[in-house]
Amino acid sequence: MSMRTILFILVFFICTTGFSQTETKKLTISHLTKDFYVYTTFGDPGNGSLFPANGMYLVTNKGVVLFDTPWDTTQFLPLLDSIQARHHQNVIMCISTHFHSDRTAGLEYYKQKNIKTYTTKQTDNLSKIRNEPRAAFLIYQDTSFTIGQYSFETFYPGKGHSPDNIVLWFNNDKILYGGCFIKSTEATGPGNLSDANTIEWINSIKKVQTKFGKPSYIIPGHQNWTNKNALLHTLKLLKEYNSKKNN
Ligand SMILES: [Zn+2]
Repeated sequence: MSMRTILFILVFFICTTGFSQTETKKLTISHLTKDFYVYTTFGDPGNGSLFPANGMYLVTNKGVVLFDTPWDTTQFLPLLDSIQARHHQNVIMCISTHFHSDRTAGLEYYKQKNIKTYTTKQTDNLSKIRNEPRAAFLIYQDTSFTIGQYSFETFYPGKGHSPDNIVLWFNNDKILYGGCFIKSTEATGPGNLSDANTIEWINSIKKVQTKFGKPSYIIPGHQNWTNKNALLHTLKLLKEYNSKKNN
């Protein structure tokens, strides 16, 4: 084999592997525990790159509940189709944890599919002002939901990543679904702060730590979710950011 042939094969291999990676990068679904699954789509945070956004879904005996919508607007239907193919169940409910598009992009679409869409009243107010998709049903205070054999509660901890961010708590399985309020241990900074309050965010994190002690799983809005130190890591990033800002 000539050097040129080897080079050609090498380049061909790198290119095809590269392509197949972008191909699989549209929607990923991972089993979390029991009937809980984390799904990830990818969006452009504004710098032309692709960044992952995590949502979750729960398969109950009354149907599937979606926590946040895909960020990637091409993945609204593929997500429903993947869920149907895997679990032979329809999505019956969707709840978004703050007003940014990586949480709410699919709300209108899912409303049209007869899925019961929810946000808090506070989120709805902001969605209205900022022209983001809005839910059909509103939550006016911290609320518990029971869907089939599963229950969870919504909790508004105070301002943080956004003024309206809520977290979800699944007490039986000790799952804390944080959305963008909680940073992954993979994150190297506090992220998009366009609507954040980095001082109050610290107090809000502490409220969540006090209220939901010892989660078995913590799902952040972006990046890796397999590390249970995400709350501590979020505090660390915020303290670092605030002390730099004050100097
Ligand atoms: Zn986000």
